[in-house]
Amino acid sequence: MSRGACATIHAQALTTNLARVRELAPNSRIWAAIKADAYGHGAIDAARALRDADGFALASLGEARQLRDAGVEKPLILLEGTVDIEQARQAIELDCATVVHQADQLAQLESLGPRVQQQPLWLKVDTGMHRLGVAPDVAAEYWQRLSALSDHPVGLLSHFAAADDLDPTATEAQLAAFERAERGIDNAPVSLANSAGILAWPQSHRDWVRPGIMLYGASPGFDKTGLDLGLAPAMTVTAPVIAIREVPAGDRVGYGGRWRAERPSRIATIAMGYGDGYPRHAPDGTPVWLGGQRVPLAGKVSMDMLTVDVTDLPKVQLGESAELWGAHLSVDEVAQQMGTVGYELLTRVSSRVPRQWRHLD
Ligand SMILES: *Cc1c(COP(=O)(O)O)cnc(C)c1O
Repeated sequence: MSRGACATIHAQALTTNLARVRELAPNSRIWAAIKADAYGHGAIDAARALRDADGFALASLGEARQLRDAGVEKPLILLEGTVDIEQARQAIELDCATVVHQADQLAQLESLGPRVQQQPLWLKVDTGMHRLGVAPDVAAEYWQRLSALSDHPVGLLSHFAAADDLDPTATEAQLAAFERAERGIDNAPVSLANSAGILAWPQSHRDWVRPGIMLYGASPGFDKTGLDLGLAPAMTVTAPVIAIREVPAGDRVGYGGRWRAERPSRIATIAMGYGDGYPRHAPDGTPVWLGGQRVPLAGKVSMDMLTVDVTDLPKVQLGESAELWGAHLSVDEVAQQMGTVGYELLTRVSSRVPRQWRHLD
């Protein structure tokens, strides 16, 4: 039995947001990022809603296996590549493109020899993020060696660290570094843009774009919410009010008594806590949508519950549904209040919260 908390997911929102990516990058193919269980939404259902994408971008072989087992036949790419030769072998078996970002991955593929011929390969170049990738000045050498292994044209890929930054300097430097990497390489498919790149850097669209967060209707940054950017929120998280009580002025609410009633107050307790993925560090005042308006979090989030101040809300009913984020309250606004990003809230919703997909077909 569920405790009443639920994440409702609208397939139509994903389809609409994907169409938006097509509009923004009409000449590019699309790797839809459905890693991390489609940012917490559920990878198999997301693959179905995003069937017009050209392929799916993943973080692990386990995710690739899950999709293949579910009958997904589209191109798949492992964004961080494989960690050892056994994984490299399995990626080939699963017909999954892989990213090579360091020397030992190249060595493993070379030792697998002819088996690699049918596998699409992408070389990752470090253009300044300094997380993964080979340096621009050795890219051509790596690319030649990979091209000797695979019958497919070997792709060239990099990732932006700050494409959502209003200051363009860092991204311009990354684009310049990528240009250096491309010298001596002909006809490689190129992929650079994440959601922020798609929205703000049209010159980065190239052959393949890699949207993630915007497909789910949340914002990659720019101090804007997904709604501000014209995206449709896919996930709405709700939980019922399970208690309502009157608290005298001066009394405190919740663990440690962090919140203190400055006036006679009414407190509603909602069946959503950090065990469901709602962050414990959420400060007092974080908005929750209840009775058609925003009400402020009052007191520390518990494992199974949180409390909100509904003194200014004339009517609250037991069992009434509160929205933690979603259609009425942007996940980006809530995240910003908590000092985090929509990405983290979406991917943290725990398995205790059932995902209810609304498909159109
Ligand atoms: C996750 C990821 C993306 C998608 O990024 P968003 O900011 O969610 O659009 C693109 N590329 C790589 C390499 C990633 O790891």
